[in-house]
Amino acid sequence: MSASSFLDALRSEGLTVVQVGDWRHHNRNGKGPWGPVHGVMIHHTATSGGKRTVELCRNGHPDLPGPLCHGVITKDGHVHLVGYGRANHAGLGDDDVLRAVIAERTLPHDNEANTDGNRCFYGFECENLGDGEDPWPAVQLEAVEKAAAAVCRHHGWTERSVIGHKEWQPGKVDPRGFTMASMRARVHDRLK
Ligand SMILES: [Zn+2]
Repeated sequence: MSASSFLDALRSEGLTVVQVGDWRHHNRNGKGPWGPVHGVMIHHTATSGGKRTVELCRNGHPDLPGPLCHGVITKDGHVHLVGYGRANHAGLGDDDVLRAVIAERTLPHDNEANTDGNRCFYGFECENLGDGEDPWPAVQLEAVEKAAAAVCRHHGWTERSVIGHKEWQPGKVDPRGFTMASMRARVHDRLK
């Protein structure tokens, strides 16, 4: 979908959206393809502090240039748009998982890193330390649910098109602090 449609979809789902800089044209499209898109990927940032987290996700760091996702969901439940197009969030993942997402089947265990995820997933980074102790405020989890549902609604996808980074790329642990099964159940209910 276009950047404008993305913004509209998020707002229509009832989200408070903050547009950061020229997010519509901030991407990594010069480094590889973007699309066709097949799903939504959820992450935690392993950072704290909304402002700092948003800046990091927009700018990236020397080893990994930004944008590091499309939307950053801070603890207050706001969605900060930092980029649109190809973004450095998904890395290489498992082609069997991608096939399952496309078919909206039960996910197999991710045991390969052979497929470019930045091409085919929308990415939402969520402000959380990911240490298993940092709380996930209800308003933030609700925003994750709404953001994922907004994208699924636009594309006509079910909740099975929503996955966690840890379900895609071997070795990843994010998001930590809630289960993706519980989040998919919430997205399912929202899409009814
Ligand atoms: Zn991640």
